Amino acid sequence: VSDDPIELLTQLVRIPSVNPMGRSVDGLSSQGDGNIWLEGRLTAFLLDRLNGGAFKIDMQEVEPQRSNLLVTLPAATPPGKGGRWLLWDVHQDTVPIDGMIVPPFEALRENGRLYGRGACDVKGSMAAMLIALERLREVPAGRRPTVTLVLSVNEEFGFSGASDAARKLTSGDIYPAMPDAAIVAEPTEFQVVVTHKGVVRWRIETHGKACHSSAPDQGDNAIYRMGRVLGGLDEYARTVVGTLGHEPLLGSPTLSVGTIAGGVSVNTVPDFCTIDVDRRMAPDEDGAAAMAHVAEWLKSHGLADGVTHSAPVMSSRGLKAAGGERLAETVLAATHAAGITSAKVGVPFGTDAPAYSCLGIPAVVWGPGSIAQAHTKDEWIEEAAVHAYVDLLVEHAVRFAES
Ligand SMILES: [Zn+2]
Repeated sequence: VSDDPIELLTQLVRIPSVNPMGRSVDGLSSQGDGNIWLEGRLTAFLLDRLNGGAFKIDMQEVEPQRSNLLVTLPAATPPGKGGRWLLWDVHQDTVPIDGMIVPPFEALRENGRLYGRGACDVKGSMAAMLIALERLREVPAGRRPTVTLVLSVNEEFGFSGASDAARKLTSGDIYPAMPDAAIVAEPTEFQVVVTHKGVVRWRIETHGKACHSSAPDQGDNAIYRMGRVLGGLDEYARTVVGTLGHEPLLGSPTLSVGTIAGGVSVNTVPDFCTIDVDRRMAPDEDGAAAMAHVAEWLKSHGLADGVTHSAPVMSSRGLKAAGGERLAETVLAATHAAGITSAKVGVPFGTDAPAYSCLGIPAVVWGPGSIAQAHTKDEWIEEAAVHAYVDLLVEHAVRFAES
């Protein structure tokens, strides 16, 4: 087993673990590319590498072919008996490969960069966390915290893996104690993310009555109705949603309509129209309440007849800075000690971190690479940043044990 994180990253990128993003994998398989989907093959590789490594491994099935791995390196003093307990979270899934202009699963290396799907988001961090955990074994057990590495599934479409892992880790199943802190790996260029927005997405449908377009007054045009709803949502987005919260590092909540569909043919008055709504929330907002506020506002403006709202297609809370201050300071100190410029920041994207923080585990998001290279057609990561992350994780863990 090699201790070179780039060699390991190469292996990780060459094992596809693509998130179907809500689509049925059975349908995708029948199109001939079934072998790239879901995390199962990567999980098997990780198990194989970690077995025999003096770790305690808990496998947690979230869905068929989709299992979290919780990999624990015990310290001299266990959690619950006075020892500190640190979580590292890194997700196994990647986004799909449509439109990529570099080979997604070859892990090509050029000019200090490694290219491929997941290189930046977030297998570079995964390679570093695995090597760092193996390296921490060499640190005397009295000088390090208990570390549990959570290799989570389904981050890119709903964060369900981390939510299940957080529940297990706080249930007393593994130790009769609460984890003290969680570091969630995402490309942040080693900035320490202490807060980010939440998101709730849902579908709004308008209903009408279909008829031949030569006699439109005999029907009820669902597209016209949606036009009125859209006018209302435009006003709501410009003048209302921004007043519902404000965070200095994040700004205000937002609302955006991203898709529209309706009607069957130009010579039929349409009886349906649908839109998809994306509402970014302040960290303390709740998805159901945010949706209810929109529905109530439409109703109070006479825009509720023939309008229905779906259940949330996706709902994820934001990350609150409160409670994570001490963790952020130790992470920042380790980063500065390595000579890397870093600060506490807020970011606009969602992560696994709220899954931990909403159960009372302080969490920050911190890792190598830039979000500008995540999900892109030529995704890459700087190899030097992956090496640096290994050292930073070990350094931070030792400091954390003493903090
Ligand atoms: Zn990610």
